[in-house]
Amino acid sequence: MEQTLAIVKPDAVARRLTGQILAAIEERGLRIAAMKMIHLSRTQAEGFYAVHRGRPFFDSLTAFMSSGPAVALVLEGEGAIARWRELMGATDPAKAAAGTLRRRFATDIEKNAVHGSDAPETAAFEIAYLFNRLEIQGG
Ligand code: GDP
Repeated sequence: MEQTLAIVKPDAVARRLTGQILAAIEERGLRIAAMKMIHLSRTQAEGFYAVHRGRPFFDSLTAFMSSGPAVALVLEGEGAIARWRELMGATDPAKAAAGTLRRRFATDIEKNAVHGSDAPETAAFEIAYLFNRLEIQGG
């Protein structure tokens, strides 16, 4: 069964949207295999987003992601990576489809409420970055 890493980003946690986002995940039929609140340091955020180092928004993104608590989850299901990204919507909320989480909850292209892995390799890296094996529950 495919796994993906999801994050309710600090903007959404601060705006008390965690519950609505968790409800959407479960309504979509994805299983929550792991979940915890995290508060990344700047260095940890830089490591998580290492692939984006050098992009113009890297400093701003890692400052934002370390600005407050977030909720990290491992989601599981058939096609979980694509299904979670579909539910999140496009990176830029202005381009996100109606009904998607980013369309509903994002503030702007950076403070866009949720994160999701984009491929099996990134999912494996991101899950291992934030969770150890004992924290991930079988179904
Ligand atoms: P995602 O896979 O849809 O999250 O998008 P990316 O991997 O391209 O970017 C990672 C994260 O960086 C996004 O979710 C946003 O929080 C942020 N981001 C992406 N593009 C921009 C941008 O043009 N400006 C700013 N400020 N942040 C961005």
